[in-house]
Amino acid sequence: MHKLILTLAFLICFSSFSQSLKTEQKAIISVLSGNESLSNGKTITNRSSSENRQLTREYLTNLIEGLGLEAQIQNYKMPNLNPLVDLLFNPFDGANVYSVLSSTIKSDEYIILGAHFDTERNCPGAIDNATGMAIIYNALKKLKAIKTRNRNIIIVFFDQEEEDLIGSQVFANYCQKENLNIHSVHTFDTMGWDRDNDKAVELELPSEALKNLYTKHANILKIPLYVTNVNSTDHHSFRVLGFNAIGLTDEYAHGDYAPFKDTEKDTYDTVNFDFVSSCTNLVFETIKDLVTQ
Ligand SMILES: [Zn+2]
Repeated sequence: MHKLILTLAFLICFSSFSQSLKTEQKAIISVLSGNESLSNGKTITNRSSSENRQLTREYLTNLIEGLGLEAQIQNYKMPNLNPLVDLLFNPFDGANVYSVLSSTIKSDEYIILGAHFDTERNCPGAIDNATGMAIIYNALKKLKAIKTRNRNIIIVFFDQEEEDLIGSQVFANYCQKENLNIHSVHTFDTMGWDRDNDKAVELELPSEALKNLYTKHANILKIPLYVTNVNSTDHHSFRVLGFNAIGLTDEYAHGDYAPFKDTEKDTYDTVNFDFVSSCTNLVFETIKDLVTQ
C-alpha cells in the first residue's frame, strides 16, 4: 500500500516536472523564433542580421544569469578564407555566448555542450536551432541541481554556424590554445521534428565510448539511436583539432528530418515539443552519468 502511494507520488511528481520542462522550453523556443516578443518589445524575427544576433545574445545571457551562472561573451573577427561562402559578413564578425558550471569536487576536466544560435537569412529557426538551445538550457538547469559533480561543464551557444562553422571554430581554437582538458564535446542541432513519433535520434561520428554511453541511456528511455557519419555542423570544428566530439540531431540521414530547415517556414508551430523533451532527457541522463561516475 505504502509502495503504491509512493509510486503514485513519484509519477505525479515526475509528470509535473516534465510538464514544467516542456512549458519552459516552449517559452524559450517561442521567443528565439520570433513567435513572441522580448520583454523590451523587440522581436527576434531571424538570428542572422547583426542586430538580431545581438538581441539573441542578450536573451541567452539573461537565461544563463537566471540560473545564477555567469555568462561570458567571446568576441571574434575572422578573415573569410572560403571563396564559396556568399558573404554578408566580410570579414566574419561575431560573438559566442558561454558559461561554466564548475564541478563541486575539484577537477580540471571539462565537458562541453554546444548549440549554434544563428540562422540562415530570414529564417525564424525554431527547429534549427532554437531546439538545441532549449535542450542545453534545461539540461544545464537539471545538472546544476545535482549535489556532487566531478567534472566541469561548459555550455556554449555558437555564432555563425550557418556561415562556415565560424563560431565553433573560434571556440575550439580557444580550448586548444588554453590547453583545456576536454573530456568530450557534445553538439545539438535541429532536434524538434519527429513526424513518425518514434523519438529516434542520430549520433554523428561518436567515439566508441560515447556511443556506448548514449546507447545505455537511450535503451532505458526507449529511444532508438542511429549512428551516422554526418559532419556538417559544429562538432566537426572540435574533431579536426583532435577533441572527442559527437553531434546529436533528428533523423537527418534516415529521412524523418525537419523539412523547413533553413527556410522562412521553420516556425514555432512546427516544433514537436514531446520530441524536444525526450531528447533533453537523453542528454541530461548521459551527461549526468559523465559528471557523477
Ligand atoms: Zn543547424
